[in-house]
Amino acid sequence: MLEPHRGLGAVAVLPPRPAGTEEGFLDLRRQFLSPLAGGFAHFLRPPGPVLEYPASMVVNIAIIGSGPAGYTAALYASRAGLEPLLFEGLQPGGQLTITTEVENYPGFPDGVQGPELMDLFKKQCARFGTRFVEFQPIAKVDTSSRPFTLTTTSGDEHKAHSVILAMGARAKLLGLEKETELMGYGVSACATCDGALFKDREVVVVGGGDTAMEEATFLTRFCPKVTIVHRRDYFRASPIMLERARANAAIEWKEFRSVVDIQHDDKKQVTGVVLEDPRDGSKEDYSCQGMFVAIGHQPNTEFLGEEFDRDEVGYLKIEGGTRTSVEGVFAAGDVHDPAYRQAVTAAGYGCAAALEAQRWLEAEDLA
Ligand SMILES: Cc1cc2nc3c(=O)[nH]c(=O)nc-3n(C[C@H](O)[C@H](O)[C@H](O)COP(=O)(O)OP(=O)(O)OC[C@H]3O[C@@H](n4cnc5c(N)ncnc54)[C@H](O)[C@@H]3O)c2cc1C
Repeated sequence: MLEPHRGLGAVAVLPPRPAGTEEGFLDLRRQFLSPLAGGFAHFLRPPGPVLEYPASMVVNIAIIGSGPAGYTAALYASRAGLEPLLFEGLQPGGQLTITTEVENYPGFPDGVQGPELMDLFKKQCARFGTRFVEFQPIAKVDTSSRPFTLTTTSGDEHKAHSVILAMGARAKLLGLEKETELMGYGVSACATCDGALFKDREVVVVGGGDTAMEEATFLTRFCPKVTIVHRRDYFRASPIMLERARANAAIEWKEFRSVVDIQHDDKKQVTGVVLEDPRDGSKEDYSCQGMFVAIGHQPNTEFLGEEFDRDEVGYLKIEGGTRTSVEGVFAAGDVHDPAYRQAVTAAGYGCAAALEAQRWLEAEDLA
């Protein structure tokens, strides 16, 4: 089917993929989501139509990532008539699709389910003409010549005058089977996001760095007892953060302990954790109603070349708003932001990146 599309000549909307290939895609999706998704199997929907356009065509803005940052960038770019092409990756909707209630996104006084919120984001940019490429993660961005070339994992090439990197970050997890199953039911990787849901409950925080100290201290606003579980007695946390946590009477300490299992009731609510002493392998049951994993995040920047300046963890370095070290490439959201890591800040950066890309395209006389 061919549909006229302003500025693009013609855009071919292909029919859905044949069942065999769809299953392949779903397998891929399951592999990606299974360690994360918990109860969100309903999000494993078959891919929709795939957009295609003449290979010689150069899009104004390619956006990599479909979390709050990517969709917001797409909303602004499409409303500016720039007809962006958005690569959703293997987690359409981003990190919020693996959580339940989101209570701190403005505009939803009664809260909203994470997956529902991200569906609304997508609908809003679709309304203004954003084109989506589903289930084809970008494997390479070649910036050696302009226009830039983006290559998907299946080898398709796309040309773009400018690029917005919005690949987000992933929380590092302990790797326990039940950890992902209970995510949103008492297991969390974000105290800022979920702390208020644990009012008057006793929780454990796993980790020994600044994030663990900060999350534990924050959680004492709601929880009468917060236990920091750390596998050593040496902490990576900065002295000031450690001291602040040590001075907090609501924080207890379990050093030389690792969480090896999570206990829960038949409603999947967490009731305790099993701790192991790595020195002698002894185990103990430890009662709690929640577990926060605070062992760090990993930005999804591994596939980018060395021309993109990053910090030691892999977060993109940006200047003057959202500019990366490569002219014409901008970054938005958790992919460059280890400090806030919130949906609303990611969306804000997405807006900024789209506006900066738009101004850059105008200055370069490209759009
Ligand atoms: C369990 C949980 C609960 C949370 N709860 C809250 C909350 O209540 N409130 C709040 O404000 N924040 C919450 N957060 C944090 C919030 O989800 C993130 O800050 C926000 O999603 C970051 O948005 P983003 O657009 O930068 O990236 P993400 O949401 O991480 O999206 C990244 C996108 O990039 C895509 N991608 C990655 N690599 C590629 C590639 N190579 N090619 C193409 N696409 C790619 C992925 O498919 C995904 O679509 C929570 C996070 C988690 C994990």
